[in-house]
Amino acid sequence: MTRCLDCGSPRTADQCPACGLTSAAAEVMFRRRFLKRTAVFLAGSLAFPYVSQIYPPLDLDLMLVFFGLIFFVALTLAVVLDRRARNRQDLEGLKRIYSGFIPLPWILAATLLVNGGLDSSKDITYHPAVVDGRYNMPGIVRGTRRLFVRSWREGQKVERLAVNADDYDRFRPGDQVNVGVEPGALGIPWYFGVYRR
Ligand SMILES: [Zn+2]
Repeated sequence: MTRCLDCGSPRTADQCPACGLTSAAAEVMFRRRFLKRTAVFLAGSLAFPYVSQIYPPLDLDLMLVFFGLIFFVALTLAVVLDRRARNRQDLEGLKRIYSGFIPLPWILAATLLVNGGLDSSKDITYHPAVVDGRYNMPGIVRGTRRLFVRSWREGQKVERLAVNADDYDRFRPGDQVNVGVEPGALGIPWYFGVYRR
Protein backbone atom coordinates (compact mmCIF):
# COMPACT_ATOMS: atom_id res chain seq x y z
CA MET A 1 0.00 0.00 0.00
CA THR A 2 1.25 3.49 -0.83
CA ARG A 3 0.70 6.33 1.58
CA CYS A 4 0.54 10.05 0.96
CA LEU A 5 3.93 11.58 1.90
CA ASP A 6 2.19 14.58 3.40
CA CYS A 7 -0.82 13.36 5.39
CA GLY A 8 -0.09 9.62 5.52
CA SER A 9 -3.48 8.49 4.18
CA PRO A 10 -3.60 5.36 2.00
CA ARG A 11 -3.48 6.37 -1.64
CA THR A 12 -4.51 4.34 -4.72
CA ALA A 13 -4.39 7.09 -7.34
CA ASP A 14 -1.70 9.75 -7.82
CA GLN A 15 -3.94 12.28 -6.12
CA CYS A 16 -4.46 11.75 -2.36
CA PRO A 17 -8.17 11.27 -1.53
CA ALA A 18 -7.70 12.83 1.91
CA CYS A 19 -5.69 16.02 1.30
CA GLY A 20 -6.01 16.30 -2.49
CA LEU A 21 -2.26 16.62 -3.13
CA THR A 22 -0.61 14.80 -6.03
CA SER A 23 2.38 12.65 -5.05
CA ALA A 24 4.76 15.34 -6.35
CA ALA A 25 3.03 18.11 -4.35
CA ALA A 26 2.94 15.89 -1.25
CA GLU A 27 6.70 15.38 -1.54
CA VAL A 28 7.25 19.15 -1.67
CA MET A 29 5.08 19.61 1.44
CA PHE A 30 6.90 16.81 3.24
CA ARG A 31 10.31 18.31 2.41
CA ARG A 32 9.30 21.74 3.66
CA ARG A 33 8.27 20.31 7.06
CA PHE A 34 11.29 17.99 7.13
CA LEU A 35 13.69 20.92 6.60
CA LYS A 36 12.01 22.95 9.35
CA ARG A 37 12.27 20.05 11.82
CA THR A 38 15.88 19.39 10.87
CA ALA A 39 16.70 23.08 11.43
CA VAL A 40 15.14 22.92 14.92
CA PHE A 41 17.20 19.80 15.68
CA LEU A 42 20.44 21.38 14.44
CA ALA A 43 19.81 24.58 16.43
CA GLY A 44 19.38 22.45 19.56
CA SER A 45 22.58 20.63 18.67
CA LEU A 46 24.39 23.97 18.86
CA ALA A 47 22.56 25.09 22.01
CA PHE A 48 23.46 21.99 24.01
CA PRO A 49 27.28 22.20 23.71
CA TYR A 50 27.02 25.94 24.33
CA VAL A 51 25.03 25.56 27.58
CA SER A 52 27.26 22.65 28.61
CA GLN A 53 30.19 25.08 28.69
CA ILE A 54 28.35 27.53 30.92
CA TYR A 55 27.15 24.91 33.44
CA PRO A 56 29.38 21.89 32.74
CA PRO A 57 28.27 18.78 34.68
CA LEU A 58 31.07 16.74 36.23
CA ASP A 59 29.99 13.89 33.95
CA LEU A 60 30.02 16.10 30.87
CA ASP A 61 31.98 13.64 28.73
CA LEU A 62 29.39 10.93 29.37
CA MET A 63 26.64 13.35 28.36
CA LEU A 64 28.56 14.33 25.24
CA VAL A 65 28.81 10.66 24.22
CA PHE A 66 25.03 10.31 24.72
CA PHE A 67 24.44 13.48 22.71
CA GLY A 68 26.77 12.26 19.94
CA LEU A 69 24.75 9.06 19.71
CA ILE A 70 21.47 11.02 19.40
CA PHE A 71 23.03 13.23 16.74
CA PHE A 72 24.36 10.29 14.73
CA VAL A 73 21.06 8.35 14.80
CA ALA A 74 19.01 11.45 13.88
CA LEU A 75 21.23 12.29 10.91
CA THR A 76 21.08 8.67 9.72
CA LEU A 77 17.26 8.82 9.94
CA ALA A 78 17.29 12.10 8.02
CA VAL A 79 19.32 10.56 5.20
CA VAL A 80 16.99 7.52 5.01
CA LEU A 81 13.89 9.76 5.06
CA ASP A 82 15.29 11.87 2.25
CA ARG A 83 16.01 8.80 0.11
CA ARG A 84 12.60 7.23 0.76
CA ALA A 85 10.84 10.50 -0.05
CA ARG A 86 12.69 10.71 -3.35
CA ASN A 87 11.54 7.16 -4.16
CA ARG A 88 8.00 8.04 -2.92
CA GLN A 89 8.12 5.19 -0.38
CA ASP A 90 6.06 4.99 2.81
CA LEU A 91 7.48 7.36 5.49
CA GLU A 92 4.89 7.23 8.26
CA GLY A 93 6.80 5.17 10.86
CA LEU A 94 10.16 6.81 10.22
CA LYS A 95 8.62 10.28 10.25
CA ARG A 96 7.25 9.62 13.73
CA ILE A 97 10.59 8.29 15.06
CA TYR A 98 12.43 11.26 13.56
CA SER A 99 9.99 13.70 15.20
CA GLY A 100 10.81 12.12 18.55
CA PHE A 101 14.49 13.00 18.08
CA ILE A 102 13.90 16.68 17.26
CA PRO A 103 13.43 17.99 20.84
CA LEU A 104 16.15 15.81 22.45
CA PRO A 105 19.10 18.27 22.16
CA TRP A 106 16.80 21.04 23.47
CA ILE A 107 15.76 18.86 26.41
CA LEU A 108 19.43 18.20 27.25
CA ALA A 109 20.25 21.93 26.96
CA ALA A 110 17.24 22.93 29.11
CA THR A 111 18.17 20.35 31.75
CA LEU A 112 21.67 21.82 32.15
CA LEU A 113 20.33 25.38 32.05
CA VAL A 114 17.82 24.73 34.85
CA ASN A 115 20.29 22.58 36.80
CA GLY A 116 22.97 25.28 36.83
CA GLY A 117 20.88 28.43 36.52
CA LEU A 118 18.67 27.75 39.55
CA ASP A 119 21.63 26.78 41.75
CA SER A 120 22.56 29.12 44.56
CA SER A 121 26.24 30.10 44.66
CA LYS A 122 26.37 29.65 48.44
CA ASP A 123 26.11 25.88 47.97
CA ILE A 124 29.55 25.58 46.36
CA THR A 125 31.75 22.86 47.85
CA TYR A 126 35.54 23.07 47.46
CA HIS A 127 37.48 19.86 47.02
CA PRO A 128 41.29 19.94 47.43
CA ALA A 129 42.99 18.16 44.53
CA VAL A 130 46.23 17.91 42.59
CA VAL A 131 46.35 18.38 38.83
CA ASP A 132 47.33 15.04 37.27
CA GLY A 133 47.30 16.05 33.63
CA ARG A 134 45.48 18.03 30.98
CA TYR A 135 44.03 17.62 27.55
CA ASN A 136 43.30 20.09 24.77
CA MET A 137 41.46 19.38 21.53
CA PRO A 138 40.75 22.39 19.30
CA GLY A 139 37.19 22.22 17.99
CA ILE A 140 34.40 24.13 16.30
CA VAL A 141 32.60 25.15 19.51
CA ARG A 142 35.46 26.76 21.47
CA GLY A 143 37.35 23.45 21.65
CA THR A 144 37.59 20.85 24.39
CA ARG A 145 39.89 21.51 27.35
CA ARG A 146 40.11 19.26 30.37
CA LEU A 147 42.11 19.28 33.60
CA PHE A 148 42.44 15.84 35.20
CA VAL A 149 42.38 15.53 38.97
CA ARG A 150 41.90 12.49 41.20
CA SER A 151 38.22 12.18 42.06
CA TRP A 152 36.68 12.77 45.48
CA ARG A 153 33.52 10.92 44.41
CA GLU A 154 33.00 7.32 45.36
CA GLY A 155 33.36 4.85 42.48
CA GLN A 156 34.98 7.52 40.32
CA LYS A 157 38.73 7.52 39.63
CA VAL A 158 39.31 10.75 37.74
CA GLU A 159 37.45 14.03 37.31
CA ARG A 160 37.81 15.51 33.85
CA LEU A 161 37.12 19.19 34.55
CA ALA A 162 35.80 21.19 31.58
CA VAL A 163 37.95 24.31 32.05
CA ASN A 164 38.08 27.45 29.94
CA ALA A 165 41.19 28.56 28.03
CA ASP A 166 42.47 30.78 30.89
CA ASP A 167 42.30 28.02 33.51
CA TYR A 168 43.77 25.55 31.05
CA ASP A 169 46.84 27.74 30.57
CA ARG A 170 47.10 28.67 34.27
CA PHE A 171 47.59 25.14 35.63
CA ARG A 172 50.24 22.47 35.16
CA PRO A 173 50.43 18.85 36.36
CA GLY A 174 51.46 18.84 40.04
CA ASP A 175 49.65 22.10 40.90
CA GLN A 176 47.65 22.05 44.13
CA VAL A 177 44.13 23.31 43.55
CA ASN A 178 40.66 23.62 45.05
CA VAL A 179 37.85 22.50 42.77
CA GLY A 180 34.54 24.34 43.25
CA VAL A 181 31.49 22.16 42.63
CA GLU A 182 27.80 23.08 42.75
CA PRO A 183 25.22 20.42 43.66
CA GLY A 184 22.86 21.30 40.78
CA ALA A 185 19.19 22.25 41.20
CA LEU A 186 18.24 18.96 39.50
CA GLY A 187 20.87 16.98 41.39
CA ILE A 188 23.46 16.90 38.59
CA PRO A 189 26.71 18.16 40.20
CA TRP A 190 28.49 20.65 37.98
CA TYR A 191 31.94 22.14 37.88
CA PHE A 192 32.03 25.79 39.02
CA GLY A 193 35.71 26.71 38.96
CA VAL A 194 39.24 25.75 39.88
CA TYR A 195 41.46 27.81 42.18
CA ARG A 196 45.08 27.69 43.28
CA ARG A 197 45.55 26.49 46.85
ZN1 LIG B 1 -2.57 13.30 1.60
